[in-house]
Amino acid sequence: MTKLNSQTNSTGDIPEQAAGGVLHIDLDALAANWRTLRDHAGSAETAAVVKANAYGTGIEKAVPALSQAGCRTFFVAHLSEAIRARAVAPEATIYVLNGLFTGTSPTYAEHDLRPVLGSFEEIEEWVGFCRAQSRKLKAAIHVDTGMNRLGLTVQQGLTLKDRGELEDFGNALLMSHFVSAEESDNPLNAQQIEAFEAVRSSLPDIPASLPNSSGIFLRNKPAYELVRPGYALYGGNPTPSRDNPMRPVVRLEGRIVQLRWVEAEHTVGYNGRWLALEKRRIATLSVGYADGYPRAASARGKSGEALLAGMALVAGQSCSFAGNVSMDLITVDVTDVPEGRVKRGDTVTLIGGELTVDEVGRRAGTIGYEILTNLGARYARAYRGGEG
Ligand SMILES: *Cc1c(COP(=O)(O)O)cnc(C)c1O
Repeated sequence: MTKLNSQTNSTGDIPEQAAGGVLHIDLDALAANWRTLRDHAGSAETAAVVKANAYGTGIEKAVPALSQAGCRTFFVAHLSEAIRARAVAPEATIYVLNGLFTGTSPTYAEHDLRPVLGSFEEIEEWVGFCRAQSRKLKAAIHVDTGMNRLGLTVQQGLTLKDRGELEDFGNALLMSHFVSAEESDNPLNAQQIEAFEAVRSSLPDIPASLPNSSGIFLRNKPAYELVRPGYALYGGNPTPSRDNPMRPVVRLEGRIVQLRWVEAEHTVGYNGRWLALEKRRIATLSVGYADGYPRAASARGKSGEALLAGMALVAGQSCSFAGNVSMDLITVDVTDVPEGRVKRGDTVTLIGGELTVDEVGRRAGTIGYEILTNLGARYARAYRGGEG
């Protein structure tokens, strides 16, 4: 194991030598990505979405690094995540996307958090609390322009200006969310912008927010007053049809616990789903689906076949998985790596280099978002940068 250099700070929970995988998280790249997005956002404020433990990177590390870069506004999904963000960002504005759960208003007030209100019931509960407290506590209103998931309908949104409640709380933000902004030519983008524009222009004094990561890169730049990137901050490609303008933030190294030869006509792993047509060399890694590496990346077929399955970079060479991903182990076909270049205890790259989060997601039949947000709790975490 290489010694930690002075710019690396480990959380220390799990020593690297004892962990099946080491997750390297580059907080300087995270900050650089935030600045890149800010430069694309024009005059709009650039917030940061740090839900799901900052897309797996660690909310207690990511939020201070982003604050240091200049970020002042954060979005999470859950109240519990907001309380964690508040603990490391005492001055920040923090919104909770998943709405106001009944009876939680006092907790919002106690921690100076803002709910994103998505129905008249939620608005009424927040207004009732504000009246009882004689305070105009701030909140956002979410208008659904096509997702059909969370938020007031556009019709309801258009009635807001004539309803009394808006006077009784601090309506700090009007927002909506794109359905497919990563498909820049999808006509739904323009339809959503038009629907949002109608509600926004009926409430011209309230700051508005629409784009997620990909929305920031749409040609007509519907930035409004605030943009809400998540995925791109963590290195995901917000423009899948073009090169990725973001820097990678996450690198995952898995450890080889054993190397073995499998004889011709023998199978590897549970249910014997991968067949060695001739003698093959297998490296077994101490990482599995219990670490959040998707079982759907299993390699089912025959040796030498090009399979859409997980890959590892072994001594710089890309090697396909062999067989089903187990709970705690992954088997990789390393036959093509010269024998002397790979040994027990070596680490191989599971995320990093050509194995971007987007590519790892694709090979597992999912999206990079799911790869990031499932990053496991058993990895040693090594953070780089983020201070000064
Ligand atoms: C998750 C989320 C975002 C961030 O989306 P990315 O695609 O990760 O940039 C923004 N707004 C809302 C409402 C979200 O739920």
